Amino acid sequence: MNDTVIDKIWAFGFNEGDGKDKKLLGGKGANLCEMTQLGLNVPPGFVITTEACLDYLDSDDDALPSDLMDQVRQQMQEVESLTGKKFGDPEDPLLVSVRSGSAMSMPGMMDTILNLGLNSETLQGEIRQTGDERFGYDSYRRFIQLFGKVALDIDDEEFDKEFDAVKEKANVSEDVGLSADNLKEISERFLHVVSEQTGRPFPEDPYEQLEIAVKAVFNSWMGKRAVDYRREFHITPDMAHGTAVNICTMVFGNRGDDSATGVAFTRNPGTGENKLFGEYLINAQGEDVVAGIRTPKPIDKLAGEMPEMARQLEELRQKLEEHYCEVQDFEFTIERGTLYCLQTRNGKMNAVAMVRTSVEMEQEKLIDKKQALLRIEPDLLEQMLYPRLDPEAQAVSLAQGLPASPGAATGIAVFDADRAEVRGKSGERVILLREETKPEDIHGFFASQGILTSRGGKTSHAAVVARGMGKPCVAGAEGIEVDVNLRIASVGDTTIHEGDMITLDGSTGKVYLGEVATIEAEVTAELSILLKWADEIARLTVMANADTALDGRDALKYGARGIGLCRTERMFNDPSRLPVVIEMIVAETLEERQVALEKLLPMQRSDFKELFEVMSPYPVTIRLLDPPIHEFLPSENQLVRELEQLKQLKQTVVGMDVLVGTMSLLVDPLATNDEAEPVHSLADAHMVEEAISKKESMLKKVRSLYETNPMLGHRGVRLGITFPEIYSMQIRAILEAAAECEKKGIEVHPKIKVPQVCTAQELLSVKRLVDDIKAELKERLGQTPGFQFGTMIEVVRSCMRADSLAEEAEFFSFGTNDLTQATFSFSREDAENKFLPMYNESGILQDNPFEVLDEKGVGKLMALAVDWGKKTRPDLLVGICGEHGGHPASINFCHNIGLDYISCSAPRVPVARLAAAQAALSGEE
Ligand code: PEP
Ligand code: MG
Repeated sequence: MNDTVIDKIWAFGFNEGDGKDKKLLGGKGANLCEMTQLGLNVPPGFVITTEACLDYLDSDDDALPSDLMDQVRQQMQEVESLTGKKFGDPEDPLLVSVRSGSAMSMPGMMDTILNLGLNSETLQGEIRQTGDERFGYDSYRRFIQLFGKVALDIDDEEFDKEFDAVKEKANVSEDVGLSADNLKEISERFLHVVSEQTGRPFPEDPYEQLEIAVKAVFNSWMGKRAVDYRREFHITPDMAHGTAVNICTMVFGNRGDDSATGVAFTRNPGTGENKLFGEYLINAQGEDVVAGIRTPKPIDKLAGEMPEMARQLEELRQKLEEHYCEVQDFEFTIERGTLYCLQTRNGKMNAVAMVRTSVEMEQEKLIDKKQALLRIEPDLLEQMLYPRLDPEAQAVSLAQGLPASPGAATGIAVFDADRAEVRGKSGERVILLREETKPEDIHGFFASQGILTSRGGKTSHAAVVARGMGKPCVAGAEGIEVDVNLRIASVGDTTIHEGDMITLDGSTGKVYLGEVATIEAEVTAELSILLKWADEIARLTVMANADTALDGRDALKYGARGIGLCRTERMFNDPSRLPVVIEMIVAETLEERQVALEKLLPMQRSDFKELFEVMSPYPVTIRLLDPPIHEFLPSENQLVRELEQLKQLKQTVVGMDVLVGTMSLLVDPLATNDEAEPVHSLADAHMVEEAISKKESMLKKVRSLYETNPMLGHRGVRLGITFPEIYSMQIRAILEAAAECEKKGIEVHPKIKVPQVCTAQELLSVKRLVDDIKAELKERLGQTPGFQFGTMIEVVRSCMRADSLAEEAEFFSFGTNDLTQATFSFSREDAENKFLPMYNESGILQDNPFEVLDEKGVGKLMALAVDWGKKTRPDLLVGICGEHGGHPASINFCHNIGLDYISCSAPRVPVARLAAAQAALSGEE
């Protein structure tokens, strides 16, 4: 910069900007500064700050900050002196690229203009300088189209039409086949498109071009694509506010066969393999690779074509990783044998690659364990547990593309993003099938299960965005011909119509017609290592919510250290038990109920025994029956309907001893109509009478159990107190199962917890039942197994009475699903599909409190309960078993308020283990 006095610096040269200040310079700008200052070969340029963007977007009169363009001119002079070229010079013109770049990477979300500075005069200078007319017109037509699209808002198709017309006239299929004259004609046609569409000639003055371009980049920050992207990825203003503009000397990958352009990752972003991964195109410009216009070559072919460049690229890879200690996604251009690095950023990778690179980079001593754990977004791990195609399915693939983002997906083929959005939102599984995707298709990505393109490479827009979203993608499946107008795609003789079911395998690149079976993913060796490190650092123990031995096995596979919640009602719902459960509920007397409970006891005992055996030596926390018992009975409407049918049947059989009826309704009065198979058989009227009477008494029972607010009704511990024999049966089953395991030498740690408790008196009542059974077992067996007795904390009053509850309870388990419901007075059954989305959209609530723990309300109650409970009983064990136990931010909160364990669904266990380690690490800082 020269020494003019200025108020605010809006623009920084690459050699002066602070490479750490991403907020001010954007990620791309900061990295360009950093790389320049590191001595890497970056073309000279400068960055206009995000502050300038915000100033511009805030202005009422669409004006850039008053002295911005003066500073731009000064910076441009610096670039001119570094390159020896002049901006707008008809002899040796300096051409620049103009790119967006915010603090958070948003690939392809905002706009880029290349070759800015070309006009009818500078074009001739460029042609003279390069001695290459074809190159000059090629650059010119690219510039007019990009500038027209990005800065003048002209539809791409207007240019594409002209381009295709000349291509057809010249009878060439690839862009490289076009002659200088063809490109000249294309440029002229493009200039005509601009004046026709805008009513003004194309701007000739390079500084006017620059000013328009800078404004267009600033405006793109508020464009639909960028706004949608920020919303989807929760990018808030404190993370990224405004975009910077990077103005960089153009270098040309389209200067002939000794020039090339490419995009590379320092490691494979799909597998994590420690090897340069990427693609390049000889004689092409950067956007050609990303836009997927020509299918590029894999990077390992470069050594055969340009050995020295391949060597330098490998050197660049090493330097970037050593400096950033992170996998880099970088763009390069080779101009006549000189390698330039045009940008770098941390590579977006899928979960498999993130985990593998974390572990390997630690082993290579590039990072330490702490960094290895902190660099992975815990939620990403769920991706590793995605299904893949079942190899046994032996499906024959229809087409082969590039494996661009792993995982398997099935859905109906849909040919444009708008329809994909509509059909996706209506609940259909959708595969977005396009020739190539563009940033404006982003809403279609969100709505799709997977993405399939017939053109473009592994670094094409489709691939990068799909990987970032963790969605399977097959790119460049060239055997597929897409006809968007007819809404069909053909592969040889096969035609895929819109709405036809297809399956993708993003790991192999194969495409199948119809639905192919998938299987669950496994925990990789690297994930096991990483999670072992996590467990060493975490203070919170991670357990799982699991109801059966099968779930328990899954939980162990994912590394759970026990079961934090076993919902016993799930065992009751088993079809083989339900009739006995119903028998217990409809029993009119204690004796009748005891008969049913006697039948249930061995079933529950064997359930628990199996669970203890599978989970040994870890604890298993069993919650006594929670839901209102009417949930196990048929609905009133259903019973009324069935009674009607039976009464009609009765009319038809009066006077006859033969009827044609619904056999199971007669034989088993508890059966519902859904299960009933119409049979033609003999039965007598007496059976109908009996069925009617049983249905009527069931209806009477259902009506007697009716409650206006069942969630606040006769459930949980209230049920256990009014029908103590039910809880007694469960307690007995738990303790007998534990005793049997111990007898077999199996280590068990049962925990009994009581749901919906709001007063210590309730706990005391249940504890008496426990004590009675314990005493009886002791007498019978000579000893009783060890166990813990505790309570759910899921009622507001239980938080307020935590001190007194801790006198009876040895552990607390926060049921944050119910506690959230109770704290907000929002029904957990209905709120999420009624008003909550609107509350979130309008900002009344930042998050869905059933998903993300409400720290300020629910969390405050929890913190109080922990403090009060531990005051009474210092060794009180406290955990969480509501859905929030698997949510990373909520886990961090649980760590901070001093919980001892979290319990979540089995597939969330790896996420929770990593989040627990991260919570411990962030607490250290
Ligand atoms: C809870 O309320 O958070 C809980 C774990 O119990 P449930 O979801 O079974 O009501
Ligand atoms: Mg609950």
